[in-house]
Amino acid sequence: MGIAVVTGASRGIGAAVARKLAEQGHDVVLNCASRIEKAEEVAAQCREYGVKAVAMAWDVSDHAACDQALKEIKASLGVPTILVNNAGITKDGLIMRMGEAQFDDVIRINLKGTFNMTSLCGAMMMRAKAGAIINMASVVGITGNAGQANYAASKAGVIGLTKSAAKELGARGVRVNAIAPGLVESDMTDVLPEDVKNAMLSQITLKRAGKPEDIANAVGFLASDAAAYITGQVLVVDGGMGV
Ligand code: NAP
Repeated sequence: MGIAVVTGASRGIGAAVARKLAEQGHDVVLNCASRIEKAEEVAAQCREYGVKAVAMAWDVSDHAACDQALKEIKASLGVPTILVNNAGITKDGLIMRMGEAQFDDVIRINLKGTFNMTSLCGAMMMRAKAGAIINMASVVGITGNAGQANYAASKAGVIGLTKSAAKELGARGVRVNAIAPGLVESDMTDVLPEDVKNAMLSQITLKRAGKPEDIANAVGFLASDAAAYITGQVLVVDGGMGV
């Protein structure tokens, strides 16, 4: 099978994605920002599927660090066949009270980080004439959300980047898609006040929050040959929010 790079794989959705791709038989590189011991734990879980799995910490918003990491991955494992741009942060607040750094940090990690990895890894994949890139967007990148202008803008940007990259890379055998999760149980959503979570839950047709594995299953599909004729799409995985 192939070689998958999953950013933000130390916990939450990224950890579940890494395990799913390992289950499918891919070697996995698990990126994180700083919690390398957590990423090592998830890598050990991946190795139980009989694949190679390595944890590596680097900041996806740092172009030079992404370049260095991908060169190391290519030298040790080979050219990645799957890239999952999952690393992301929130720094919520109303626009009128949002500081410049609060806006910039979220755009830098969520959007520029996705650009850095797509551009550098996409170039390797284009030369190999094969690859699947899956970007983690969000339903709020489609709908907007009060208190999340920075985050929603970053995720709307990820959707535009996904569609543009799909058009640029498609002729060279590289597919690029996005997933737009709704409310998913993770550290990111644990911090939300109960009343906010309950208000969101009341909008969900399936009457439950998503689990990281619900998103990982969608990634597993988009990364597989079952999705060989799918590119430039945004797959909404939100339990029917607002349907
Ligand atoms: P999470 O539990 O907060 O985990 C975030 C992951 O991103 C961690 O592995 C973290 O590494 C990594 N990370 C953060 N900044 C990074 C950086 N600069 N460079 C490299 N890695 C970095 O988040 P999650 O809920 O699983 O969300 C994963 C993705 O899904 C994000 O893009 C998020 O926006 C998106 N999403 C989530 C939800 C949801 O409801 N949870 C909904 C829609 C979309 P460390 O552990 O080292 O800090």
